[in-house]
Amino acid sequence: SQKLALAHENKKPTISFEFFPPKTAQGVQNLYDRMDRMHDLGPAFIDITWGAGGRHSQLTCEMVNAAQSHYGLETCMHLTCTDMERTQVDEALRLAYKAGCTNILALRGDPPRDQEKWEAKDAGFRYAKDLVRYIRARYGNHFDIGVAGYPEGCDDHRDVDLLVEHLKEKVDAGASFVVTQMFYDVDIFLGWVQKCRDRGIHVPIIPGIMPISTYAAFMRRANWTKCHVPPEWYEALEPVKNDDAAVRDIGKVLIAQMCRRILDAGILHLHFYTMNLAQATRMILEELALTPETSGRRLEKPLPWRQSLGF
Ligand code: FAD
Repeated sequence: SQKLALAHENKKPTISFEFFPPKTAQGVQNLYDRMDRMHDLGPAFIDITWGAGGRHSQLTCEMVNAAQSHYGLETCMHLTCTDMERTQVDEALRLAYKAGCTNILALRGDPPRDQEKWEAKDAGFRYAKDLVRYIRARYGNHFDIGVAGYPEGCDDHRDVDLLVEHLKEKVDAGASFVVTQMFYDVDIFLGWVQKCRDRGIHVPIIPGIMPISTYAAFMRRANWTKCHVPPEWYEALEPVKNDDAAVRDIGKVLIAQMCRRILDAGILHLHFYTMNLAQATRMILEELALTPETSGRRLEKPLPWRQSLGF
């Protein structure tokens, strides 16, 4: 962790990748191969998401174990309290602990697909902050605990100020870092970070970066998260919307410019929503000269990063 802190002191950026558990056994094997290859890009850590309602939860735990123990990747396990019995939460934490995982992203969770509205299964876990408190009470400082942040509002609330208050509650409950929802407007993100700082949220804030793979996916994700897309992004992408390679190329430049502004603002960690694919993320890192080949970053085993993102 000291080495990572040193990297940031020397203004050296760090990166991380998010993956989700695939639906088939073949998909899992393919993902392991991809994780192995993406290891070469030198992520400080990787995330494995948690299926709503604990679907695929066993697979999440297995993947955390494989990534941590077999692939030598510092891993952060997502954990939700949507539709989860306390025994399931306990078991997931036990398995993460046993695998040597020391990072949990504590979430309330989306409603399961067949349920429109979210319902707490166990009165003990209504909000993510309850899960944060629970993990702290049971495991002390063993886990670094992250929570989700929403620079442009979320499904329940579009009121960003109110959400910052709720984020503060999560941090006060014991969260030690924040990962944001994806966004495409860097001014909105940077303004929101300032708002968080002004509200007394001083833990590291990690921007969630969504690469652009196809025009359809870009539009779908923008609509789904209701994030603001700068008009010039539409102007650049719309004319080539049927040409996936051109979309990826232009998208790479747009996202890299956004990342550059984040790094220039002194936020030195970028978290990529890989969607289990390597190419679009790799292209952005190449554009930013952040691959080990282009940056002179030494290829080494990812380092523990606990409490080290001191930006
Ligand atoms: P919370 O922070 O608990 O907030 C939930 C709602 O309650 C918000 O509207 C909040 O404002 C409100 N609230 C909080 N405190 C109070 C209070 N005191 N009074 C009144 N209202 C309050 N989902 C998955 O299922 N699996 C994943 O792996 C996953 N990973 C994610 C990773 C990231 C980086 C992000 C941004 C989201 C992820 N999600 C995941 C989605 C997330 O579970 C949903 O967005 C969910 O709807 C909210 O979760 P939360 O942890 O932000 O909830």
